[in-house]
Amino acid sequence: MKVLIDQEQISSRVISLGRELANEYQHRPLTIIGILAGSVVLLADLIRAIDVPHQVGLIQASSYRGKTTTAGALHVNLDFMPDIKGRHVLLVDDIFDTGKTMQTVLAQIRELQPLSLKSAVLLWKEEASEVELTPDFHCFKIPNHFVVGYGLDFNNEYRHLPFIASLEGTDLV
Ligand code: 5GP
Ligand code: MG
Repeated sequence: MKVLIDQEQISSRVISLGRELANEYQHRPLTIIGILAGSVVLLADLIRAIDVPHQVGLIQASSYRGKTTTAGALHVNLDFMPDIKGRHVLLVDDIFDTGKTMQTVLAQIRELQPLSLKSAVLLWKEEASEVELTPDFHCFKIPNHFVVGYGLDFNNEYRHLPFIASLEGTDLV
């Protein structure tokens, strides 16, 4: 395992993104929606860095990766989606890889007609993108490697690591 982004780098970047978002959404009713489970660590830190009133909700999207690192069919569950009528929505995820998760979830939320809809991610694998869309806000661009930590898992492990590390070779079996 190789550390790509350490705890301090993450913390200072999340705080600066929080300031940026506070400016953007000042005086606008904001709801931040995190995508389970990968976004929870970022979500917890980010919402405390956004010094304007906002509501928080969670939805679930899973691509049935199972024990592999390649994505399967995407399943989106909006059962716990809060009421966003008359509100601006910021959708938060751990990583923008192919972009298909973000694209699919954004399309479903757009149907609920929020006042505006934007996306924020911790990591952006720019080279891996398979969609036209780009994230509106991101903390770090990373190369096309499989990474874990700060919410990101492999086989449901490693989410608790306070840094981002890339898994290579034998780590992945
Ligand atoms: P996308 O739909 O953009 O291809 O993938 C987004 C989802 O795939 C993320 O929410 C995350 O769950 C998973 N994912 C993509 N790349 C990585 C990675 O490098 N590490 C981990 N742990 N998950 C990833
Ligand atoms: Mg995810």
